Amino acid sequence: MFIKQSNRRQFIKDLGVLGGIAFAATHVLASFADDDYPFSSGTQAPRLRVPAQACDCHHHIYDRAFPYYDDRNLPTASVEDYRRIQKRLGLTRSVVIQPSSYATDNRCLLAALAKLGPQSRGIAVVDDKVEMAELRRLHEQGVRGIRFNLGVGSATSVDMIEPLSKMIADLGWHIEIHTRPDELIQMEALLSQLPVQVVFDHFGRIPLPAGNDHPVFKMIARLIDKDRAWVKVSGAYQDSVLGGPDYDDVKDLARAMIALAPERVVWGTDWPHPSLQSKKKPMPDDASMFDLLQVWAQNDVMIDKILVQNPARLYGF
Ligand SMILES: [Zn+2]
Repeated sequence: MFIKQSNRRQFIKDLGVLGGIAFAATHVLASFADDDYPFSSGTQAPRLRVPAQACDCHHHIYDRAFPYYDDRNLPTASVEDYRRIQKRLGLTRSVVIQPSSYATDNRCLLAALAKLGPQSRGIAVVDDKVEMAELRRLHEQGVRGIRFNLGVGSATSVDMIEPLSKMIADLGWHIEIHTRPDELIQMEALLSQLPVQVVFDHFGRIPLPAGNDHPVFKMIARLIDKDRAWVKVSGAYQDSVLGGPDYDDVKDLARAMIALAPERVVWGTDWPHPSLQSKKKPMPDDASMFDLLQVWAQNDVMIDKILVQNPARLYGF
């Protein structure tokens, strides 16, 4: 889907360069329906009853106007594109996550937050050279946490977690972690004594089918027991072996996570699904992905916690 979108943009741009061939442009636009959603398959609304002020706690914005740090040739996924998905899903609030492609350059994130306004918050990436004044500046613009995406080529490293956590504690921020399970296991002692909350991306990337029998699940359970951790039930495609649209092997893990920490679980779209894009996999149907929450949470009271109350506490809405 995104190829079609970006081709369309490029084509229209080319037409503009050629000089206002209005008929051709209209013709091209007409071949794309209004219900075409960028970086998402399907056109339907979710069946889930979406509560007011529901929050997508994990999505990204990419804009080629800001240079990418890595060489992945990711397309622009703009605030306007996101707005269409947000409207389709009936969501109100959102949390923009700085992707690894921008390393510690948070300009695209801040530009997105300025456009999205008071209904959005941001998670930035900074390294240990950052100054307190910069963190305060980010706070004023809606940032509420920092992310450690500790894969290959990461701009941050494990040894930065403790000093940066001390700096952000006074701002009431948290850290967000995305890393391999074997690396996570090594970090339990470090994470359990930080002065901030730890948010695990995408179920903590717990491998399947091990799920709730995996040592990372047990480690997260111990951190939650100490009131130190939160989990995003997002990105079902990240570790599902069975795959979509049902992601059946994620169900037991999701239910176990929600039962373990009903007050500390949040949900997100992971739009525009960058990990699928880099693997050249098809885009998922975001509405049917959203409907999985009904299967996982099983009742409206829990859905309300996951979509509204928990994000309000974690991000300060
Ligand atoms: Zn993501």
